[in-house]
Amino acid sequence: MHLYVHVPFCARRCSYCDFAIAVRREVPSAQFAGLIEREWAGWQNHHAWNDSPALDTIYFGGGTPSRLEPASIARMLQVFRADRAVVAGAEVTLEANPDDVTAANAEAWRAAGINRISLGAQSFDPAVLEWMHRTHDAAQIDVAVQTLRSAGFSDVSLDLIYAVPPALGRDWSADLDRALALAPTHLSLYGLTVEPATPLGKWTARGESLSLDDDHAALEYIAAHARLEAAGFEHYEVSNAGRPGHRARHNSAYWRRAPFIGLGPSAHSGFASLRRWNVREWTEYRRRAEAGESLMLEQETLDRGQVELEDLYLGLRTSDGLPASRVPPVVLDRWRAGGWAVVRDSRVALTPEGWLRLDALVASLSRC
Ligand code: SF4
Repeated sequence: MHLYVHVPFCARRCSYCDFAIAVRREVPSAQFAGLIEREWAGWQNHHAWNDSPALDTIYFGGGTPSRLEPASIARMLQVFRADRAVVAGAEVTLEANPDDVTAANAEAWRAAGINRISLGAQSFDPAVLEWMHRTHDAAQIDVAVQTLRSAGFSDVSLDLIYAVPPALGRDWSADLDRALALAPTHLSLYGLTVEPATPLGKWTARGESLSLDDDHAALEYIAAHARLEAAGFEHYEVSNAGRPGHRARHNSAYWRRAPFIGLGPSAHSGFASLRRWNVREWTEYRRRAEAGESLMLEQETLDRGQVELEDLYLGLRTSDGLPASRVPPVVLDRWRAGGWAVVRDSRVALTPEGWLRLDALVASLSRC
């Protein structure tokens, strides 16, 4: 079983972000942890545990989990461990923003049992960080990584965002160099998109935003792939690259369709063909949790066709790919001729050029 906890609190909304967040100057850490415990307790007799009685990964995502009081993180982990076995060597990840990484916090996170940090760097370019409305500067990323290392964290992942408007003049290659110089074990690369309910979406609707450029985005993606592979990383999923032995176990579980429970506002859970998700807003989550009402917003059961489509999509996201028998020969020939796929050991895997067309390729496959 894999456990996700969505911590919605952020200091402010980044310009591109459409996650379920609650902007708060003061974070109600103890209240949040108490409500998560309550939701967790409600899961304990669920049949989802029948085939998967122990936790293999725990992931605090957000939002900005590093804004919680470390004592509240420790308390949640104690409760999870008291109720469920956690496998030896379990991956326990906390997403953190660089400006929250102090020596005291890092040591408290280690003591609580966190063993992996996913750090939201996004860029080292001051103009880009300002345009994104990030709360940290580039120097704080460097200091945060050093602080984490001093506290004993050897497993540090960095998030970077590519495909920002070319008019910002961002040197993507220099950003990759700065990131690699920090010797992370893992990198996540996310392409900027414009979502309507974000500051960027609103600037775009008013015609006030700098333009994105798909060709520029594709060049940056391909350049990152080459740079990371040359540096010894495995680009093992469309948006993720790790040093050998450092694939993200939690996210890999989603791509394998392993069972997972999500706690907190907007969190999703999935086991077998069932998918369910919680109410999105923190205030509504809090109200329902305090009133003892259901936190679930909706659920659905995937039919056989939907499960097969999900399998295709998730398989093609990863470098492990799919059994070649799942792709009709005429389609596979077209993909290989386009340089979008390769076949290894009777499995078909997309190339970076293929990953740039992932949605279209899966759609063409689902029509076969
Ligand atoms: S810190 Fe992360 S979750 Fe919060 S607003 Fe920025 S991108 Fe969104």
